[in-house]
This record gives sequence, structure tokens and C-alpha cells, in this order.
Amino acid sequence: MSDIIAAVAAAGAEWSAAEPQRRGRALVAVADALTGAADELVPLAMSETGLSEARLRGELKRTTVQLKLFADVAVAGAFLDVRLDAADPDFVLGPRPDLRRYLVPLGPVLNFAASNFPFAFSVAGGDTASALAAGCPVLVKAHPGHPRLSDRTASIVRAALAESGMPADALGLIHGQDEGVSALRDERIAAASFTGSLRAGRALFDIAAARPRPIPFYGELGSINPVVVTAAALAERADRIATGFAASVTGSAGQLCTKPGLLFLPAGAGFPTTAFGDAGPHRLLHPGIVEGYARRRDEVLGTKGIHVLREGAVDGDVAAPTLVETDLATFDEHRDTLADEAFGPLSIIVRYDPAAALAPVLADLVEGSLTAGLHIGTGEDSPWLREVIGVLSDRAGRLLFDGWPTGVAVTPAMQHGGPWPATTNPTTTSVGTAAIGRFLRPVTFQDCPPTLLPPPLRDDNPWGVPQTRSAAGESARWGRLS
Ligand code: NAP
Repeated sequence: MSDIIAAVAAAGAEWSAAEPQRRGRALVAVADALTGAADELVPLAMSETGLSEARLRGELKRTTVQLKLFADVAVAGAFLDVRLDAADPDFVLGPRPDLRRYLVPLGPVLNFAASNFPFAFSVAGGDTASALAAGCPVLVKAHPGHPRLSDRTASIVRAALAESGMPADALGLIHGQDEGVSALRDERIAAASFTGSLRAGRALFDIAAARPRPIPFYGELGSINPVVVTAAALAERADRIATGFAASVTGSAGQLCTKPGLLFLPAGAGFPTTAFGDAGPHRLLHPGIVEGYARRRDEVLGTKGIHVLREGAVDGDVAAPTLVETDLATFDEHRDTLADEAFGPLSIIVRYDPAAALAPVLADLVEGSLTAGLHIGTGEDSPWLREVIGVLSDRAGRLLFDGWPTGVAVTPAMQHGGPWPATTNPTTTSVGTAAIGRFLRPVTFQDCPPTLLPPPLRDDNPWGVPQTRSAAGESARWGRLS
């Protein structure tokens, strides 16, 4: 494995120094190669994960679109956040030197692939695309749930990199838990990304922090994704909300980090659950998830005060959706059991009454989440609603109105992260263009001779990147605010 890390680290010099256009072209070549191999990759993914062909074809498309988006990001250069402060003899605090700041790649990134997105969060997924776009070579720790797909994807990516004139070793692949831990401890690794369980993510985060030279560890862990429905929304469109909820919980057998795990409904209002019955049994991704889901489902079903609406079942590696209901007081009492993620097709309806009791309970009982949702009546507004919005937005990375959290758009304004335990670092995202910032660090060149400046910091700006300039003399006007 050390050879693989050495090769990835060695490729980093050429990869990071490459002009944005070269890096961008290489990412597009990778995307096109994966698209061209779809008829080989999708059946392989189906056999290893049990996910449907439609889901996997859509996910592969998302993966290639993501690579192309990051190709554009690399070329546009705004991610470099170039700031040029002109030397200023009249600076208000005394003479200011010439200061030029930009962001540079951290170095080799170790990416722990996820089980539940064998394309979009695996070998060529979002963590890899954003790290490569940042200028970092990537070592992927394959998820054991799809080892052959990981090998095949890596060889396609490496061949496409080489064909585009870039080093194939800008991407390397390893297998095995011990190998993943050793790589995380390796001095040549400069940052790590992870999507998976709270337990494993926390263990790896601690290893990253305990290294002699600690490194950033970006873990995307468990998320409960609470959704609140108001009485007005339910009166307007209970059927539509119920159908959307069932689709969001049961799609991909609930094995999505954004699955709504808690639905808060006003007490007494009708809520049809027939759509849950329409979703049939579905194979789960791998034995670890079967075991974890069956255990969590048993814990929830065994909780006093839980009323079963749809029992579902776990039969071998196949699960049918389970839906249960309880009230706010029971939820409050059994918070540790009920407000913990069940990774699979299970959700809990919590009936609230009176409405005024909801916000304090949410504040006490709901930990950090990737998302939170609200379904409200047309034009609805009240101090109570604003209080609920405030509580949810304090705890979630993305607040959705009248929508469902599964199906994460890959786009500049997306936020896919949140306060602990949703992620180990709430200041960033693992989906969307801002994800690139995880793999960069700032450096300022002070009074550097122009001929020695890196291209993005030069006045002639050969890469054509956005440069934010602070002219001499500006400090005398600071604070005028107009
Ligand atoms: P996982 O068990 O956390 O495994 C993810 C990765 O971490 C794998 O590469 C695994 O390698 C490694 N790993 C696990 N335990 C480790 C340890 N003690 N030390 C070092 N490495 C370790 O995740 P999973 O198999 O995908 O699914 C299990 C659970 O993860 C789910 O039930 C769910 O709760 C959560 N999950 C969350 C998300 C999300 O997006 N937030 C996505 C998927 C899963 P090995 O298997 O080779 O040991």
C-alpha cells in the first residue's frame, strides 16, 4: 500500500501545478469515459449493491455531471479566492506591504468511499471530484460493499487521466479497513473525507486528530432529517404530503443520508399511509447495514408507547418499509432510542399537541442534521412558525419548504453538511461547488518580486482568474459605510 501512496503523492506535484484548463480537461475526460462505460458499470453496481438500474443510471449521470461542474470550477478559478492588496505607504495603521493571498491545494486526500452511493460518493464521486479540482491527488479507500465496481471505476478513471496527458496516479485505490487506517496515519496524506456511520466516522476523526501532524477530516455521518408539517398544510394537501413522505422514506430502501427519519404532525389530523404499503421489499446494501437496520428497527418497535402503522419486515437481506407513530411526550421520554438514525426504510411520525410545545421539544431533542423540512399552508406566517424555523435552521445545513430532502441537487448553492453529528465539520459541504474549499489552504505572498509570483497572483493574470483588489488609499475611507 505504501507504494500506492507514494505514487499518488508523487503525481500530486504535476497535478497541482497544472494549469486550470489541463485539470478541467482531464476531469471532463474522466466524466466522458465513465459515461461511455455505463453499460458495463451499471450492471456491475446492480449486482453488488441491489440498487435498481434506474437509480444507478441516474446516479452515474449525477456523478459525471458533478465531474464536469468541477471542471468548470477549476477553470473559472474563483475558488482560488485571490486577494491582492497593493502596497500602501499611506495605510491608516502605518505603511502596508504588497500582500497577495490565494488558496493552494492541501496535498494528497484520502477519500473513504460510501456504501450507499456506489458512483456519486465513491471512487469518482463528489469528494474525489472536488479534491481533484482543488489540485489534490486522491487515494480512495474502497467500500467493501462494491469492491469490483470500485476496481473497475478506478481503472477507467486512471486510463482517462493518462489519455488526457495527466498522471494516472492522481487517483489511487486501496481496499481493507486496516489499510484505510494505515493510510490515514500516513504522513503523506494531508486531508481525509468520509461518508458513513457515526461510529466509524468518529473513530477515524480521532485518528486524524491524534496524528503527530493532525490533518483535517471531513466526515459526513448520521442524520435524522426532521420534517414538521403544520395543521394548515395538512388541511390543504394531506394526500400529497403523505405520498411525498412515503416516496422519500422508501426510495433506495431508505438507505440515504437525507431520508426523513422523523415527521412531526399535528395530533388528531388525518394522514393516509397507504403509499407506504405500495413500496415493496428491497435488498439492503450489505450485511453491516442489514444488521444495523434490523437492530435499530427492533429497538424502535420495542419502545413503550410506539404504535405500529406499517410493520414491514427484515427477511434475510431484504427489508419492507416500517412506519410507526408516537406522541411528543413519548418521543421526549425515549429520545435516545427514537431520535437516532435508522439507516433503512423506517420513519417515525410524532404527533404534537399543542403546537406551542413543538419548538422547545425540537430544541431539546433534535441534534444536528443534514436537513430539516417544513410543510406550511399557503401564505402561512406566525410567531410560532418563525420560532420553529429558527430552531430547525439552527440544527440543519439545509432547510426545505414544502419539499423532501432526498435527491440532493449538485449545484453552487447546495449545502450538504450540518452541525454534529451530521458532520465532523459544520463549516463546509460535501455536495456542491463549495465542497472544493475543504481541500485548500490560504497562503499570502508578501512583497514577492513579480517574476517569482505564482500565476494567479500576477498582475498580468495569465490564468484569467478573478482577483479582488484593494487599492492604496482605501483605508482612509473605511467605516464610512456608504
Ligand atoms: P461504515 O460502517 O461507517 O463504513 C464506512 C467506511 O469506514 C468503510 O470503508 C469501512 O471500512 C470503514 N470503517 C468502518 N469501521 C471502521 C473502523 N472501526 N475503523 C476504520 N475504518 C472503519 O458505513 P457503511 O458500511 O456505509 O454503513 C453503515 C452505516 O453508516 C449505516 O447504517 C448508516 O448509519 C451510515 N451511513 C451514513 C451515510 C451518510 O451519508 N451519512 C451514508 C452511508 C452510511 P470496512 O468496511 O472495510 O471496515
